[in-house]
Amino acid sequence: MEYLFGPVLSRRLGLSLGVDLLQNKTCNLDCVYCELGGTTCLTSCRNRFVSPEKVLREIKSRAGESFDFLTFAGSGEPTLSIDLGEILARARKLVDSPIAVITNSTLLDSPQVRREISSADVILPSLDAATEPTFRAINKPDPRLKIESVIEGLRALRREFQGEIWLEVMLVKGINEHEVELIARAAESIEPDRVQLNTVVRPPAEPVEPLDEEMMESLLEIFDHAELIPDWDWRVPPKMQERLEELLSREPCTLEDIALQLDLEGSAIIKYVKILERDGRLGRKLQDGRYYFYAIEG
Ligand code: SF4
Repeated sequence: MEYLFGPVLSRRLGLSLGVDLLQNKTCNLDCVYCELGGTTCLTSCRNRFVSPEKVLREIKSRAGESFDFLTFAGSGEPTLSIDLGEILARARKLVDSPIAVITNSTLLDSPQVRREISSADVILPSLDAATEPTFRAINKPDPRLKIESVIEGLRALRREFQGEIWLEVMLVKGINEHEVELIARAAESIEPDRVQLNTVVRPPAEPVEPLDEEMMESLLEIFDHAELIPDWDWRVPPKMQERLEELLSREPCTLEDIALQLDLEGSAIIKYVKILERDGRLGRKLQDGRYYFYAIEG
């Protein structure tokens, strides 16, 4: 697969099958917390980075699988792709699962971009600053981008978009926490369905530090109805873990075998298996082009 990744377990979206319309790291920001590393291609020019037909062929080939969201994200800012609108609209006819778009919000001041993403079910934009100096410090944008236009674009999106908007605010120690009040007021003016506060959890592009849990909890009060993005604390129900481990200690099975034997939906099985793999309870081996999962004793 060249353009699709996962499904991965996402803290915000559950089991997410990702679509990457960019190549390398292409973005109009160079956020200090970016887990993809530094931006290699800093541009605000929309362009064609991949062949739409090839992407759609891949989506079609995975359409029958179980996942919670088909998510446009990946190695940069998806709205930089001029093909986003067409691919999204055609993907909608191929998959039953809801479609999400993760964006850094910077191109939402364009009516064309807002139109293109309007057929998504959920848009997950981000906003990490309310003033120009903080915008430059945390997001290191293309010099032509202005935070006021970003916020205005988000407000326009809210007025026009019928689906859900989940606004993410990434907080980084010593860089933007002093501006939380202003960010909270800006977020209120946007009126998203959810405001999700986050801090650095994965290895970031630069040596920046997260806010501690106590601080994050206290900042919730400044926002109107905000929530913390949950930690990576997924668990399998104990009875289900027992059944899975019992089955897989008898013989290695494919995901389809497991779903059949335990009479469960495919998406639930993938989630459980991924969690147990993460916890070192299950392993996998490739045989005749298929993955077989087995229980790890001890
Ligand atoms: S907007 Fe996203 S992809 Fe771009 S630099 Fe920031 S975190 Fe990385």
